[in-house]
Amino acid sequence: MKRRIGILGATGIVGQRVIHMLRDHPYFEVTALAASDRSEGKTFVEACNWRLPFDMPENVKSIKLRPCMPPLDCDIVIASLPSDIALTSEAAFAQAGFPVISNSSAFRMEADVPLIVAEINPDHLDLIQVQKKNRGYDRGFMITNPNCTTIALVLALAPLHRAFGLEAVMVTSMQAVTGAGYPGVASIDIIDNVVPHIGGEEEKVEQEPQKILGRLANGAVEDAPFKVSAQCNRVNVQDGHLESVRVKLSRPASINDLKVALESFTGLPQELKLPTAPRRPVIVRTEKDRPQPRLDRDAENGMATVIGRISKDTIFDYKFTLIGHNTIRGAAGAAILNAELLAARDLI
Ligand code: NAP
Repeated sequence: MKRRIGILGATGIVGQRVIHMLRDHPYFEVTALAASDRSEGKTFVEACNWRLPFDMPENVKSIKLRPCMPPLDCDIVIASLPSDIALTSEAAFAQAGFPVISNSSAFRMEADVPLIVAEINPDHLDLIQVQKKNRGYDRGFMITNPNCTTIALVLALAPLHRAFGLEAVMVTSMQAVTGAGYPGVASIDIIDNVVPHIGGEEEKVEQEPQKILGRLANGAVEDAPFKVSAQCNRVNVQDGHLESVRVKLSRPASINDLKVALESFTGLPQELKLPTAPRRPVIVRTEKDRPQPRLDRDAENGMATVIGRISKDTIFDYKFTLIGHNTIRGAAGAAILNAELLAARDLI
């Protein structure tokens, strides 16, 4: 029997991706949709300005949108809400007994909330027990995925940190317009332009990697001890966040050592053959002009980080460029992979 999924923020850019990625899913079926009071009471086909280049799945068209508060006709909630709304909505669902898998930043950095990248830190799911105890939850709980820029970055950092240790990371992002949701950035602001500010983004990218790569001990995560400096820019690209990265390592390594560590990186989702797991979560390209958003964002169905231009740096040790699909690996796909991981670990 498939587990029943409710989607909060179903009409948004990420919600639409979740719906698309859950069509014909072997473990899950979408049974409930929720959004703002602008959409409430309408059918999904009436309320949603569908922005994906695939047809809206038939099974969701006639579902009536509900408010983002319990109860909801489902077993598990995947939430893609603005973070101020998520703060009350997600907590209310967890309190009401629903496992909540969140794409928003509302609870990411709370000490008892797992911030999960399925390949990197599935052991942090043990925080669920701590959270239930702290917050008096019975069957409900919350887990989160990182920010879309962080997740692409951390898939590259994890193998390097494990093999050589990270001392410092500098990253400059060039982020796609879909990262701002729909309708997002006004066209007049972004056509023929780059906007060197994305509210709150640099802080997230500078803090989340250390929690994800941190060590779980005695019911708490001890952050990994490296620093990240980030500068985030909005660019005129539809999908896919490109990032220029520089790293300082704790132990010496050759370029070939880096390539081997990155290319051989896999984790529990690959071992368990979870349905949404990319076969290769990290792909290294050797052409001098890759990765590029249009050519590389869809690698492994949008679930991989693609890395290229690995070379020696004159100030740090190495520099490289990477890309990740912001609404797939950066949001919807990450949440679904985390749901599959919870199912595999009998946590839902
Ligand atoms: P979006 O396109 O603006 O969608 C927002 C969704 O939230 C819509 O379904 C909207 O419903 C609903 N909503 C807005 N205000 C609400 C309210 N007051 N009460 C209840 N529902 C409300 O945004 P998005 O890009 O999908 O992002 C959703 C979340 O995912 C955000 O926290 C974002 O930071 C995070 N995220 C986004 C990306 C990305 O690449 N876009 C990546 C990673 C994480 P209506 O249609 O009814 O207004």
